[in-house]
Amino acid sequence: MPSARRTAMVAMALVIVGQITLTCKENRRNRVNGEEDNLTQKRNDMVDTQLAGRDIMDAKVLQAMRTVPRHAFVSDSLQNQAYADWPLPIGYQQTISQPYIVAFMTEALAVRSGHKVLEVGTGSGYQAAVLAELGAEVYTIEIIPELGKHAAETLKQLGYNVHSRVGDGCNGWPEAAPFDGILVTAAPEFVPAPLIEQLKEGGRLVIPVGRYEQTLKVLQKKNGQLSPLGSLPVRFVPMTGKIQDRK
Ligand code: SAM
Repeated sequence: MPSARRTAMVAMALVIVGQITLTCKENRRNRVNGEEDNLTQKRNDMVDTQLAGRDIMDAKVLQAMRTVPRHAFVSDSLQNQAYADWPLPIGYQQTISQPYIVAFMTEALAVRSGHKVLEVGTGSGYQAAVLAELGAEVYTIEIIPELGKHAAETLKQLGYNVHSRVGDGCNGWPEAAPFDGILVTAAPEFVPAPLIEQLKEGGRLVIPVGRYEQTLKVLQKKNGQLSPLGSLPVRFVPMTGKIQDRK
């Protein structure tokens, strides 16, 4: 074959390969964009029906719940339930709370931008992300090392600057105290004293308390004592660790 013809054929082949590559990339991009649009739609539906459609009224909380990609905090096999109206397993017999409960607790905490907030029970990291989205400086503690490490990685990948540690949250985080708010996502049978000590005067503590029958308590520190602001019957996993020896 004359060399000019060979060169022309090679050039044509390269153009065809280039076009196929571009089409594949475009298809993949369209598919990814389509999936993202679908998840955004599901997230907006979740906020409209499960949160605003009930009694969550704080516009900033609703916006944070519209923004944080809850699906990034659940396993691949549960992606289709990421925005469903119930809690989901996250491994190690633990759960990511129902979206409504996350929103209720966040609203009850009355978080403002710049507040220093402690979360006990990192789990998947989702609640911590919602608090960070509201502009809080978040400290979160998880007792199960695998969950704590995985949550810290997820939060970092998503760009949330959260302080996380593995340990027993019933001791609080004394070096970072005092906190404007403390939110607990595992149920002890009584409020751990270090959490009261580490809460600022006027600050709120949102905590499920009880064994078989649990109540989510919204408490405010006034003159060094906790006074009740509200409550809700709930079902949380039990708080484990040292608190269980002190019963
Ligand atoms: N906030 C989490 C989320 O957004 O995915 C859900 C938390 S899950 C309902 C409760 C978590 O509290 C579990 O991951 C559990 O291991 C953790 N936990 C239980 N006792 C604890 C303790 N003493 N200190 C810290 N974490 C604890």
